[in-house]
Amino acid sequence: MRKISSRSFMILIMTIAFFAGLAYHTVNLVVHTAEWIAVPSNTHLPKHSQLEYAGKILDRNNVVLAQSVERKRYYHTDEQTRKACVHIVGDNSVNIATAVQTVYRSKLTSFRFTGSTLFGLGMPDAMKKIDDIIITGNDFRLTIDSRLQKTALQALGDYKGAMFFYNYKTGEILCMVSTPTYDPQNVPEDIETNEAYAGAYLNRALSASYPPGSTFKLVTANAAIQSIPDITKSTYVCPGTEIVGGHSVSCYQHLAHGLLDMKEALAKSCNIYFGKLALALGRDTMTDFANQMGFNQSFSFDGIETAESVYDVTDANDNQLAWSGVGQYTVLETPVNMAMISGAIANGGTPVKPYFVDTINELSQNTPTLCPPMLDKPTADTLREMMEYTAMTYGALDNHFRICAKTGTAEISDDGTVAHAWLTGFLVDEDCPLAFSVLLERVNSGSMEAIIAANQVLSAIAEYYK
Ligand SMILES: [Zn+2]
Repeated sequence: MRKISSRSFMILIMTIAFFAGLAYHTVNLVVHTAEWIAVPSNTHLPKHSQLEYAGKILDRNNVVLAQSVERKRYYHTDEQTRKACVHIVGDNSVNIATAVQTVYRSKLTSFRFTGSTLFGLGMPDAMKKIDDIIITGNDFRLTIDSRLQKTALQALGDYKGAMFFYNYKTGEILCMVSTPTYDPQNVPEDIETNEAYAGAYLNRALSASYPPGSTFKLVTANAAIQSIPDITKSTYVCPGTEIVGGHSVSCYQHLAHGLLDMKEALAKSCNIYFGKLALALGRDTMTDFANQMGFNQSFSFDGIETAESVYDVTDANDNQLAWSGVGQYTVLETPVNMAMISGAIANGGTPVKPYFVDTINELSQNTPTLCPPMLDKPTADTLREMMEYTAMTYGALDNHFRICAKTGTAEISDDGTVAHAWLTGFLVDEDCPLAFSVLLERVNSGSMEAIIAANQVLSAIAEYYK
């Protein structure tokens, strides 16, 4: 009989031990996996069960927005903060298409082994410690500030709408809130049937588009400045109502704005001035510039495809083309697109791609990424001056910052009493280079409501970041 050397014997023992360990480990995983999937804790099984071992979701200041403790998913301790963040964090279901817990669910719940046990690292010891293995998901840190989220939710009040504030130099989304919302820790039982929650799963900042009203004048102004030499210097006397393209175009309450150049026309938001410009530019030019500024396409970031803004004047008559130039007719815009247009103007014509996933397990996921230019730098500089002048005429905007802005009121009732109120703009500020859009649905008092809401977030930004 052949004698086995002591060295060979050791190798044999090690090999048997290795496969025994592997088998034990595999069985352990399989048994536990089956157990995890079988936990009957929620009607959304099996997707919910995966969250029982999911990683943490933190805000930019490492505030815990979601974590799993003893197989249960917990969200932020404050109900208002939970409601403010649900469209970014998600709930136990996968109903919110834009949320981290939906888009990144497999990454969030992928097993990550911590502790001392891995094969190859002194196996006998490893086998002894096999029960010490800690299985967790991957931890996400986001760019949002949960304090600003809560402020923005309060600022939106009872309105449906959205707020979007992002850093136009880096792309970090600091604040993104959508209403109506709900508490992911205590999902209302009537969320599917109660009218008050209609559209609550939708992140309106990214996934909804609305008539942009006068904020669209920025697009028309860009097209005109780049297409018609010295257009900013030519003047026009607004009579309040005028026949443009065969039918009337009117300014707010038919009030005459009088003598205007483009800067005054933007500040006073003269519909006839910009309606006539759209008609002079024509369908093709207007469409080209709208497309350049993000219309008729979606943006993708953090695994999300945004809804598309829509500018389609294919079948428009001349009067409708004029109305399209002031953001009426069939024009639709997403809040994210609107903020990116402001961000592009602030950033010399080229927008930086927004994002909200900062790190996964402390590893950086995003770097500032330029999108295609939306406009050229001289035009961006001209529009910046005009928007700063416009913001000054509002008077009521937060005084901590140098602000450039444009309001919009998109009438949605025939009598003009109900409208979507918009504000978009940006801060000229080294510490806070933020661009934003604010949307309040169905208000009775015009764009002032959007200014008031924006101010609440701006003063919180000043408090935390100035
Ligand atoms: Zn006018």
